[in-house]
Amino acid sequence: MTVSRHIPAPEGTPARTVAAAPLDTNERAALHEKYLAERDKRIRTDGVQQYKPLRGILKLTDEDDPYTPVMPREPVHDHVDFLFLGGGFAGITICARLKEAGFTNLRIIESGGDFGGVWYWNRFPGAMCDTAAMVYLPMLEEAGTVPSAKYVRGPEILAHAQRLARTFDLYPHALFHTHLESLTWDEDNSRYKVKTRQGDEFTATHVAMGTGPLNMPHLPGIPGIETFNGTAMHTARWDFEATGGGWNGETMDKLKNKRVGVIGTGATGIQCIPHIGRDSGETFIFQRTPSAVAVRGNHAIDPEWFSQLEKGWQTKWGRNFVQIMSTGMAETDHIQDGWTDGVQRITARMMEECAKEGRAPVATDYIKAYHLSDDEYTTAVRARTDEVVKDPTTADNLKAWYRQFCKRPCFHDEYLETFNRPTVHLVDTDGKGVERIDATGVWVAGKHYPLDVIVYATGFEFNSDFTFKSGLEVYGRNRLTLTEAWKNGMRSYQGMHVHNFPNLFIIGFTQGSALASNITSNYTDHGPTLISILKKKAELGAKVVEVPKSVQDDWINLLLSTTVDILGGPECTPGYYNNEGQEEGLKERLNMARYPAGSLAFFDYIADWRANGKFEGLEFDGKPAVVGA
Ligand code: NDP
Repeated sequence: MTVSRHIPAPEGTPARTVAAAPLDTNERAALHEKYLAERDKRIRTDGVQQYKPLRGILKLTDEDDPYTPVMPREPVHDHVDFLFLGGGFAGITICARLKEAGFTNLRIIESGGDFGGVWYWNRFPGAMCDTAAMVYLPMLEEAGTVPSAKYVRGPEILAHAQRLARTFDLYPHALFHTHLESLTWDEDNSRYKVKTRQGDEFTATHVAMGTGPLNMPHLPGIPGIETFNGTAMHTARWDFEATGGGWNGETMDKLKNKRVGVIGTGATGIQCIPHIGRDSGETFIFQRTPSAVAVRGNHAIDPEWFSQLEKGWQTKWGRNFVQIMSTGMAETDHIQDGWTDGVQRITARMMEECAKEGRAPVATDYIKAYHLSDDEYTTAVRARTDEVVKDPTTADNLKAWYRQFCKRPCFHDEYLETFNRPTVHLVDTDGKGVERIDATGVWVAGKHYPLDVIVYATGFEFNSDFTFKSGLEVYGRNRLTLTEAWKNGMRSYQGMHVHNFPNLFIIGFTQGSALASNITSNYTDHGPTLISILKKKAELGAKVVEVPKSVQDDWINLLLSTTVDILGGPECTPGYYNNEGQEEGLKERLNMARYPAGSLAFFDYIADWRANGKFEGLEFDGKPAVVGA
């Protein structure tokens, strides 16, 4: 029997693509004018400063864990070879590989009560991943499991994280409910002194940090926000005690007779609003900027079908996804979703336009093709809003007037439909946001909306200082802090190594692969890189591995050498992708920087870098691994 090269979608699954028709020059010009007008409504002088921490405003803050009781434990005072900060997919995948490679003297510090990271904390109803589970969930084959659906819900993702932690026996290495306070490089002993808020004081020869890009929830700086007397929560700390129900989508029975307001209509709002709308007496969605919501086309997957795939399928599919997202071309598309469809559409358009002129494409052709195909695509997504939402004014107000990649593209099959419920009301603020909040509700354009509950789906800190976001400080050589080293933007080599911070490894995606459409791919690729470095260090008998300043500077110059960036652009509406619409200086560019040739090229470059044995750019006790490298 031949197994199809992508998951067969059962009959009745909504078509994943939108039928986009060409626009003429006048239509495109009018569209761009509208984009600029809508952007201008939203530009604010306070930019990223408009947000506030949860502390002092909400019952549950970033310091609280509503999901797992804190168990008292004795502080630890010892030494470990390897410390990993963060128990999300970064920590799990790296530590799994470390254990496999025989590095067993390791510890994982996690502020939550279990493994899972972002999927531990973000338990809002409806939470799910909009990247296909076959590539998003790491190490599926090793864990001997397959996802239940093309896109899976939060509980299944969290369960997978915990399954991996069990499979690789990581639990004995973890300190949960533990907040790292400081890491201090001890020059004399070539190790970090580690302090936690729980009283632990130990040392670690190597430290890796995988704290994720969006880990500090924030609130809008709406006047009077602290005066609200009802129940209020941020989606990253869901208060099931107040709402009833559960993370598996159980009815939130305590909202039945309540008037519930939701502030925030980004990727999180899109996912939780259908559940809140379903369960609340009345729901009011206070919208500053609509999200563009395309078809998701989710469907269950028959495990039998999966069982017929050849061994190694996940690596192959992961690579296929990266290839398509990086180049827009591949022999086949195993994933077939809105992400892969979007980039293939752009590349096809570029090839078509260049073929008309009989020449090979150059970088600017890609941007041109993006704009052309994007104008058609976003027009079709807006038309979909009219098809789904019955009330024409509501449908109009739900239309997004910006390019697809100005904000996180959203895919959902129940969000727009929710606005057809008689109890769900869209309060569009025409780009201004909520005016003020008082003890009993929310004000918009001079009108008061009495509320019992406010849900803030208002996102996370992005460009703020390292210490503020992480709650810890890292002291490198000569007590230089990471906050100081990065005060004008992140500076690294390959996104992983930082000059003046020996034996420290950043496990992220900025300044390296930067694959935003599938974050876990970035992490899983770091495992073999890190292990090859540690093995080389052990082989050389070196105490310290570090990147010299000149190498880091060269890398930064390479990152800054590209000016082609399809995410940004002057027509984008404000958001965390573009520094809230304020001028993007060096700091913001560095904090979003990526390997210029793209994710696929980075993965190929780093695979060669770790395989050729030269470890170019790194110094082991002040010397290159190979003389002359
Ligand atoms: P976002 O920052 O994307 O959205 C915040 C929302 O709050 C925006 O709609 C914003 O409006 C709104 N807002 C802020 N201030 C006000 C105000 N004063 N009045 C009214 N509205 C206001 O946060 P999210 O949590 O939605 O998403 C963050 C990221 O998390 C995503 O980009 C994505 O990377 C990730 N995510 C991924 C998911 C997945 O499926 N993999 C699912 C959910 C999140 P405005 O647009 O005008 O600023």
